[in-house]
Amino acid sequence: MKLMVRRGRKTEWGRVLQDLVLPLNEPRTPELLLREYVEQVRGNKLMLSRDPRVASPGGPSGMWVPGEGVDLVWAHPSADGVFLSHVLGHEMGHMVNGDEPDPIDLPQLMKLLQSLCSHTSDELWAASMCRTNFSDPRERAAEEFSYFTEDWLQRTRPATSDIVTNMRECLDTRNEYW
Ligand SMILES: [Zn+2]
Repeated sequence: MKLMVRRGRKTEWGRVLQDLVLPLNEPRTPELLLREYVEQVRGNKLMLSRDPRVASPGGPSGMWVPGEGVDLVWAHPSADGVFLSHVLGHEMGHMVNGDEPDPIDLPQLMKLLQSLCSHTSDELWAASMCRTNFSDPRERAAEEFSYFTEDWLQRTRPATSDIVTNMRECLDTRNEYW
């Protein structure tokens, strides 16, 4: 029973990723998937922040705050490479899994960016999906989604990009000559 539920969720995740129309010339990364998901599925703009003022000792490494027409995703300024990708995949997992907090308005969002989101600002804390406690099932599911995304990117890369890249190169070459 448990296995069936899990398999069902992964099927759904795979469908979500498959349905995204990805730009041809950009490297396929969790950041690209996040950006395209926010724009194509949520109809929002992605605002990606690395503001060091939001970081706090013992605080989260990533955070998602839905605003009006905007999804703010913050990643810890020291996160890079694989870890940064994982943080972004995790936040996208919250979106895909429907862990949506109530949206906040732009002035509040700006306050947040000015580092007023800390463990002491309960109101703003509650408006964001920023948890450090991974015993929450939503956090575990977001983690699983992030790993799933990394795996999906590995598996799907060669199938599409080669043909398309080849085609594009042909066209570019032709343009040079004609
Ligand atoms: Zn989380």
